[in-house]
Amino acid sequence: MPVCATHAERRAEYRCAGCRAFLCAECIEEGHRLFFCRRCREQALPLAADAPATAPELARARRLGRRYGSREVFLYPFRGFGGYTLPALALVLAAGELFGGAAGLALDALLVLILPGLLFEIARTSAEGDDQLPDWPDASQAFERFAEIGRGLLVCAVALTPAWLALRATGCDLEPYLRTLPEGACVATLFGALAMGLLLGVFAFGAASAHGSAWLALRVDLHLEALFGPAGRDGAATALLVAALVAGARLAAAALGFLPLLGAAAAGVLTTYALFVGAHLVGRLFLRHARTLDPLYRD
Ligand SMILES: [Zn+2]
Ligand SMILES: [Zn+2]
Repeated sequence: MPVCATHAERRAEYRCAGCRAFLCAECIEEGHRLFFCRRCREQALPLAADAPATAPELARARRLGRRYGSREVFLYPFRGFGGYTLPALALVLAAGELFGGAAGLALDALLVLILPGLLFEIARTSAEGDDQLPDWPDASQAFERFAEIGRGLLVCAVALTPAWLALRATGCDLEPYLRTLPEGACVATLFGALAMGLLLGVFAFGAASAHGSAWLALRVDLHLEALFGPAGRDGAATALLVAALVAGARLAAAALGFLPLLGAAAAGVLTTYALFVGAHLVGRLFLRHARTLDPLYRD
């Protein structure tokens, strides 16, 4: 095993492409993208084939190596720009409720305009290893915001298609379910299809976010490949957690609904909190499985 040319007691991790010296981690310098030899300033390349070859990859590996437990996940919406995002949201929702009418509708429309973009941005930055809530997207960039809403609709379409197909194939009627849940194959089929849709939705949302492409959301073939690959079990656990979070937030919101003014604001904040954590969890899934998911969705 080669040792560092300067520090004989240390194992070499890089080799200089210029002076050919073996280098330890301390004998290289990190540029914006590449590593450089401290002895001759030429590019230093990692010896191990699976070692990070660029500075961003190394930063990502370091972030991934840090302990990141459920506490960190649940506090995510309060870090970075989250310190004022959720309070500001509560104010906007309460104001919308207070003014009602056109002003309330305008505030709701503003939310609908920026929320999809923010969720995609959360998943994208989380997939890169960021653990801070990103800034709000710029609401004045209307075209980009509408493109993000379109991307969100594509993800929803992918997530709901299995249920729609199941209902059509079985000839089951949706309406009776909503009134009284009858026993039988229809319920089981619908439930299974919804679960499948949720799994596909997690990968569709993650891929569209992490790789910044709306059309990737529609690549159900790739989502299925991801689902039956090494990331599948983790993806299923993530989907379950996201569903439980959003359902829990909706239940808590319904319980708070009786409060005047504060009820609607609290309900909105709870739902948004759940969506933020959910998007972050999907991003973390793509971070953990970058080695299999990145090549799958890249080409
Ligand atoms: Zn060198
Ligand atoms: Zn050294």
